[in-house]
Amino acid sequence: MLKIGFIGLGQMGLPMALNLIRGGHTLSVYDLQADAVRTLVAEGARGADSPLAAADGMDVLITMLPNGDTVRNTLFGPSGALGGPHKPRWVIDMSTIHPLQTDSLARDVQQLGLTFVDAPVGRTSDHAISGQLLILAGGTEEQISPLKPLFDCMGSETIVTGATGNGIRVKIINNYMSITLNVLSGETYALCEAIGLSWDTAMKVMSGTPAGKGHFTTTWSNKFLRGDFSPSFMIDHAHKDLGIALDLANQVSVPVPMGAASREVYNTARAAGRGHQDWTAVVEQTRVQAALPRPARKS
Ligand code: NAD
Repeated sequence: MLKIGFIGLGQMGLPMALNLIRGGHTLSVYDLQADAVRTLVAEGARGADSPLAAADGMDVLITMLPNGDTVRNTLFGPSGALGGPHKPRWVIDMSTIHPLQTDSLARDVQQLGLTFVDAPVGRTSDHAISGQLLILAGGTEEQISPLKPLFDCMGSETIVTGATGNGIRVKIINNYMSITLNVLSGETYALCEAIGLSWDTAMKVMSGTPAGKGHFTTTWSNKFLRGDFSPSFMIDHAHKDLGIALDLANQVSVPVPMGAASREVYNTARAAGRGHQDWTAVVEQTRVQAALPRPARKS
């Protein structure tokens, strides 16, 4: 069993720390909110009055804080967790922060001869309570395996992402996709309602098409991901159909900014001479605009 310093006992951190205590680990906890510390002391943790006191002499330090500046200040600021003589061997930041801040924290922690692991979590505070978080561990199998027993107390699944910094990168990429998709889904729902189409009927259709299943394993797998832009469904036609939907939305006064922005992407692809290419070639168009090197073709 490990000795763990835990800093940041909010909606997520408190139940995560509690699950570590229940897993048999020894915890030393710190938060600006004294009530949160008291709650965990009642469950067997040792309360600390500074980040330094929480971390010194522990094997592992876990941070679960609101943002990157707070994590940095907690580690390296006044009475910072890593300023003591008996530093923890592992520093695990489980907060959701900017990946470039993660990189700079990792460098500074590694310079002290310690191991840094970014391990942000997926799912919600309900999963934190039930110990069923999705843990996205930044590191190699070798780096992560000694920490697996800790992650297993807090989560039901740990994905090892291969390198320091990849945990937070995949978390942000996942959130980018799901957060924007939520807006597009909302536009679709409102448009459906405004034109008098039942959501059940729309769902029945969309659950079997890329609209509901996503593009990665449907339209991309045989086209864009193989470098094949021969048309199954042409960009010209996608542009036309999207135009009809946008006109309909305008006529029934439903704002559709995601749809309008998407039409400009198809428009740009047409202007670049891709009108007769497959609609998945919009991805290639974006890659070209971002000046990304061409990927190797999949066989
Ligand atoms: P929260 O605001 O409930 O908790 C943050 C805690 O940090 C608070 O208890 C606060 O007092 C403490 N804190 C702030 N500054 C501090 C400092 N300098 N020293 C010590 N303690 C300090 O936030 P949360 O919902 O627990 O989220 C924590 C992190 O987890 C965030 O990065 C968030 O983006 C991420 N996250 C949240 C969820 C969710 O569903 N809530 C899901 C996944 C990831």
